[in-house]
Amino acid sequence: MGAQVGKLKVWIMTDLEGVAGVFSFEGHASSKGRWYDLSRRLLTQEVNAAIEGALEVGGSDVLVVDGHGEGGINAEELNPEARLLSGRPLLLPWGLEKGFDAAFIIGQHAMAGVEKAHLSHTESHVSVQNVWINGKKVGELGMIAAIAGYFGVPLVLATGDRAACIEALSIVPGIETAAVKEGLSHGAAVSISPARSRSLIKEKARAALLKKDEIKPYKVRPPVELTVEYTEAYKASAEHLASKPWAEKVDARTVRIRDEDLLEAFGKWF
Ligand SMILES: [Zn+2]
Repeated sequence: MGAQVGKLKVWIMTDLEGVAGVFSFEGHASSKGRWYDLSRRLLTQEVNAAIEGALEVGGSDVLVVDGHGEGGINAEELNPEARLLSGRPLLLPWGLEKGFDAAFIIGQHAMAGVEKAHLSHTESHVSVQNVWINGKKVGELGMIAAIAGYFGVPLVLATGDRAACIEALSIVPGIETAAVKEGLSHGAAVSISPARSRSLIKEKARAALLKKDEIKPYKVRPPVELTVEYTEAYKASAEHLASKPWAEKVDARTVRIRDEDLLEAFGKWF
């Protein structure tokens, strides 16, 4: 079977919009969509490919987090070697703790506002415009990398559309990526086939774990400053958050949260 790196604990965050064959919010990524069940199967099979790759090089304890809005993992189809964290609310820190050797993100989309990023958004395509951590604009990838980094866990693999992969490399140098589709616009993309995406993801998962010691956890230095800009339609959410004693209003739709502790800062926002 080749190279192995011993018994590894692997944490896998998942999302739906960055999966090969998933093309829309309404039809594919919403539970009311006509292709939602298909999308869940496509995501679950991509996750299984990552799990298989991990198991081949020494992964032994794998925790999968069902991160997409209403959930996107089909529990029955998930590789039986993995455990699944799902249900809502998904409480921070999403099952992470010290002792995990590596983190993966499967099915990720890019942050809001990126060109040629398919189905890009940050947390919510309805309510949130932008998010910054200590002045650096981040999307979900950056937030997840930071929360994993808080526990000393390196994010070693990201899969999704090409824009998400580029974003991952800008946050975590050396991270392995699998670009399974390329956005032509926010709504349209060219995807590789699900079968191809699975073999690519499996190969990248193996490679990522074999080089995990070369990849540094993404650490945010305290004090933490979390800035959230809401959309115009959700100004009231900014207003509400800004009324808290630990928050500060930046402008009518932007709020800043300060805390010594990254998790506390996120907890205040969520
Ligand atoms: Zn997302």
